[in-house]
Amino acid sequence: MLYTMTFLSEDYRRLTEHITSMPEEQAAYILCGISRSDREIRFLVREIVLVPKEILLRQEEDLISIPSSSYMPVLKHAADTNQCFFLIHSHPSHIPSFSRADDIEEPKLIKTAYVRAEKGMHGSMVYSNDAISARVWLEEGDTLYSEPINLIRIIGKQYEFKIPYNAPISPNIIPIKFFDRQVRAFGKDLQKLLGQLHIGVVGCGGTGSAVVEQLVRLGIGSLVLIDDDLIEDTNISRIHGSIMEDQGRYKVHVMEKMVKQIGYGTKVEAIAKKILDKSTALKLRECDLIFGCTDDHAGRSIINDLSIRYFIPVIDMAALIDSQDGRIRSVIGRVTVIKPKEPCLLCRNRISPEKIKSEMMALWDPNMYERRVQEGYSPELGIKDPAVITFTTSVASQAVMEMIQLLTGYMGRENNATEFLCLYDDRDIRKLGSKQQFSCKCNNPEICGRGDHQEFLGMIWPPRDKEL
Ligand SMILES: [Zn+2]
Ligand SMILES: [Zn+2]
Repeated sequence: MLYTMTFLSEDYRRLTEHITSMPEEQAAYILCGISRSDREIRFLVREIVLVPKEILLRQEEDLISIPSSSYMPVLKHAADTNQCFFLIHSHPSHIPSFSRADDIEEPKLIKTAYVRAEKGMHGSMVYSNDAISARVWLEEGDTLYSEPINLIRIIGKQYEFKIPYNAPISPNIIPIKFFDRQVRAFGKDLQKLLGQLHIGVVGCGGTGSAVVEQLVRLGIGSLVLIDDDLIEDTNISRIHGSIMEDQGRYKVHVMEKMVKQIGYGTKVEAIAKKILDKSTALKLRECDLIFGCTDDHAGRSIINDLSIRYFIPVIDMAALIDSQDGRIRSVIGRVTVIKPKEPCLLCRNRISPEKIKSEMMALWDPNMYERRVQEGYSPELGIKDPAVITFTTSVASQAVMEMIQLLTGYMGRENNATEFLCLYDDRDIRKLGSKQQFSCKCNNPEICGRGDHQEFLGMIWPPRDKEL
């Protein structure tokens, strides 16, 4: 099992500043939402509680003692909100490993956490300057044992990844020597990181296939690809990796074949289902980043919600050709980066609640949908828009460039724009600003980073036998 944590950069900075501010030990608590899948347990840090040094009972170089009046209300709040509890402290002048005293003292407090907040999983972190060790404490009968946290993600203007000091080193999946020319561009560390990333691509048509090919050749370690469409003779013109013989095969299987033929050893999971299928959407919780390459509103709304509830950056894209009587009037490519604390696709009016409702209805209750179309209450779906490989590939490249920007900051760390329009008919790129809407779910602290919930993504899903 992989154990990981995701912080928002503002929280991480505040915690680090407090914990490393004094020559003596400092303490804090964090509360997290949780995402549990077969592959990974991910803690989503939602609240930071700094422990003022005045209340510490002892504060020596490697010994700290906190009164229960400090943590009991925090545990109660964790229980009331179904959150996980982590105890954080510092070892100012030591290597950032848990000490013998930590191994003896921590389980007492964590046991109380398991009694008070029984639905959560609880753990601890220790800081030494900028280095960290982190672990989760697990129950086995009456005793507790610990497992290391393998990875810490920090999301802000930049997307950073830290390997805790106590985590086992994971081997490179793809030999770094294949990427000599890239390493000359952005260095060995980024290349190693790319090999560790797990990225989701939703939609494997014109833009999606161009994203997949670039991700593989950049050296991404593992991919999950989602699309329930079959290859037709009319879409081979823009699907990278497809040939005429592929007609009738699932697009994701053609992508899988392309990834295998490239031969780097990239892990790939191809899911020939709709993103509106619950078991499929659940899979995306394990991603470090998701590319949105669908052209429907309902599919986009699912990845928008995943981004908000699971703190997963999403890069969504679209290519739109306006053509009349065979003459192009305009060609617009759009790339939108969705991150916590930033406006989501709803805030930007990139998806419409009306269209989401119609698309969902067309799937779950086709008769009702048909009636509503005839009565003029629902828009007609499935109209085929113009598409050309030159434009879909260009938008896909812009989107992958945004991933490289997130990971490296090569466009400048203060580059705040998170949405771009490529006006191809005008040879112009526009940066768009936007604000989070006050009442939007992306601005609701009850929802942000909530992780798993009784109703996944807060919506009603059809029963399992109706898989899409
Ligand atoms: Zn300690
Ligand atoms: Zn929003």
